[in-house]
Amino acid sequence: MSDETEKLKESAEESKKKFGSPIVVDQKTSSSLWFDQRELNVRYLISINRIKKFYEELSKGKVMATKCNKCGEIYFPPQSYCNKCGSNSMSWIELSGSGELLTYTIINVKPQSFSHYPDYAIGIAKMPQGVNVLAWIDGDVRSLRVGMKVRLEVKRRDPEGYLTYWIKPE
Ligand SMILES: [Zn+2]
Repeated sequence: MSDETEKLKESAEESKKKFGSPIVVDQKTSSSLWFDQRELNVRYLISINRIKKFYEELSKGKVMATKCNKCGEIYFPPQSYCNKCGSNSMSWIELSGSGELLTYTIINVKPQSFSHYPDYAIGIAKMPQGVNVLAWIDGDVRSLRVGMKVRLEVKRRDPEGYLTYWIKPE
């Protein structure tokens, strides 16, 4: 690993402890960046300047989407522009309340970079704000039923140690 990557990793670790998300600031450009590194040494440095609020709210336990001020289209994961009408005037809305589990799948055969996880479930929840959320499901995989009431929760995922959103059966 290069010195630069090592430094980024250290500040990402600090940010995870303090703030809940691995956000680092690029020394040259002052851009806020999402930092992740996992098996196979795939490194993620994704610019999150325009959706930084998503991570700020995540650290307070809230899951946010963006809504187009012009046509009302809702985006999750949040986008800073509207694909539908081309507007870049967006508002933030919280995805909260009871949703419905539309579908789920239990992963028994895992991709290599997820091989350290026990069997897990991924599902799609339809939220009352009118948007579908794809996420890992937190709960007993045997108790899952299509149509059940679920909500979104924010908690750390190990071993990465950063906050993310989960679908949680009610
Ligand atoms: Zn729009």
